[in-house]
Amino acid sequence: MTVTLDRNVEAFIGTPHQLFIDGQWNDAASGKTFETPNPATGETLALVAEGDAEDIDRAVRAARVAFDEGPWSRLTPSERGRIIWRIGDLILEHADELAQLESLDNGKPYAVARAADVPLAADLFHYMAGWATKIEGNSISISVPYMPGANFHSYTLREPIGVVGQIIPWNFPLLMAAWKLGPALAVGCTVVLKPAEQTPLSALRLAGLIAEAGVPDGVVNVVPGFGETAGAALASHMDVDKVAFTGSTEVGKLIVEAAGASNLKKLTLELGGKSPNIVFDDSEDAAIEGAANAIFFNHGQCCVAGSRLYVQESRFDEVVDGVAEIAKSIRLGSGLDPTTQMGPLVSDEQLRRVSGFLESGRSEGATALAGGGRYGDRGYFIEPTVLTNTRPDMKVVREEIFGPVVVAAPFSSLDEIAAVANDSEYGLGAGIWTRDISKAHALAKKLRAGTVWINCYNVFDAALPFGGYKQSGWGREMGHEVLNNYTEVKAVTTLL
Ligand code: ADP
Repeated sequence: MTVTLDRNVEAFIGTPHQLFIDGQWNDAASGKTFETPNPATGETLALVAEGDAEDIDRAVRAARVAFDEGPWSRLTPSERGRIIWRIGDLILEHADELAQLESLDNGKPYAVARAADVPLAADLFHYMAGWATKIEGNSISISVPYMPGANFHSYTLREPIGVVGQIIPWNFPLLMAAWKLGPALAVGCTVVLKPAEQTPLSALRLAGLIAEAGVPDGVVNVVPGFGETAGAALASHMDVDKVAFTGSTEVGKLIVEAAGASNLKKLTLELGGKSPNIVFDDSEDAAIEGAANAIFFNHGQCCVAGSRLYVQESRFDEVVDGVAEIAKSIRLGSGLDPTTQMGPLVSDEQLRRVSGFLESGRSEGATALAGGGRYGDRGYFIEPTVLTNTRPDMKVVREEIFGPVVVAAPFSSLDEIAAVANDSEYGLGAGIWTRDISKAHALAKKLRAGTVWINCYNVFDAALPFGGYKQSGWGREMGHEVLNNYTEVKAVTTLL
C-alpha cells in the first residue's frame, strides 16, 4: 500500500533541479550535479545541481544587491508582512505535495510530515509576518555626567543585520528552512540558504513558492551543495553579515572558526543534544507513551530527542518495560506506506553511525530490552531500541546518537536528579513527568536546558523560543527572541 503521488511531486522528482539565484534557476558554475537518494530504497530520487564556492559567491552578490538597493529594503513593513503571510498560505495550499516530497527525500512518514512539518512551517511564516510591522527601537533619557546642563534626544534603531547565510540540516528540511527564512525576511534581511545535501528538494520547492508569493529577486537564494564546499564557502564569505546554522556541534565549531578567520560575522548556532527525560514515581501512566514518543518521534533524528530516560526507582521496571513494548510494536516501512509508523534513517552514513553506537553500547555492557540492530536489508532502517544497564561514562550515554535509541537508568530522588540530568556537555531540552507541580517547577529551574517540557514532550510553536545552553548552541530561534539575532541596534543621540 502506498500514498498516491501528487502530480506535481511526480513531475518534481522526475526533473533535474537547478540552483535558485537572483530569482533565476541555473546550473552550478561547475556543471556538477549530485544524487539525492530515497532512503527507503537507496535508489536515486532526483538529480540536483551541486553548488560550490563560485555559486555561493554569485548568490551572496545577488543578496547584497537586493539588500542594498531594494526593492525589498524599500517596501513598507506592512507590504513585507503581507508577502511573508502569503508564503505561509502557499505552503498550506501545497501541503500534500510538500509532505510527500519531504517523506520521499527524508524518509519520514507522509502522515507525520502532513500533520507536523508542513503546518508548522506555514505557521512560522504566518507568525513572523506579524512581526514585520513590530520591529521597534526605544527612546532613552540619558544623563552624561561630564556635560552638566546639556539636553539630548536619544533613541535606538533596530535595523536588519544584512546578508544572511543559512545552513540547515536534513531532519526537518522544510521546517528548518522556515525557522531560518521567516525571521530573516520579517526584519528585512536577504538570504543565501544552503539545504542539507541529503534533503535538498523541499527547500527548492519552497524557493518557487517564495517567488510566487512576491518576494523580489535576490532576496532568497537557495544553493544546494555539500557542507565542506558550499557550506564552508558561506561560513567564510567576507560579504556575509551573519550565519545561522543548525546541525552537529562538530560542524558548529568549524563555523565558529570560519567566522573568526574571515570577517567575524555574527553567528547563531542550534547544535546537538542529549536531552534528559525524567519520570517521577508519581507521574501519570501517560508518561510511558510520552517517553517513547520523546525518543522515537522522527526516528530519533531530533536534536532535542529525549535520549536519556531517567525513571524513579520504584517504577523503573514498569516504565522501561512499557517503553520497550511500544518500541517493539512500532511498524517500520516506507514513509509513503500509510501503515508506517517509523521510516528509515536519512542515509547510509546515518545507518552506519547509529549501528556503530549500538555496537559500542553492546561492547560496553548495555542490554537491549528492545531492538538493538538494523531492520531488514534494504533501505536504512534501524530497530527502535531501549538500552539499560548503562553507566554514565558510556559513549551511548554521553554522545548524541541521532537515531531511535534511548538509554534508560533509575534515579532515587529529586535532590539527585538535577545533577545527573545536567551531567552532559549539551543543554537543549529536558522533560519532566510528575503530578507534583511544585516539584516540576523547582526542577525546571535547576535544569540547564533551553526548553523544559512538563508532562509533555516535543511541543513546538512559532511563538516559543528554542535553542541551547552549553554546547547545544548560541542564540534562540522562533518567538520574538529570534528577531534580536537578525538585527543590529543603533543608538542615535542629538544635542538639543
Ligand atoms: P549531520 O551530522 O546531522 O549531517 P552536519 O552538521 O554535518 O549534520 O550538517 C548540517 C549542515 O551543515 C548541512 O547542510 C551540511 O551540508 C552543513 N555542513 C557540513 N559541514 C560543513 C562545513 N564544514 N561548513 C559549513 N557547513 C557544513
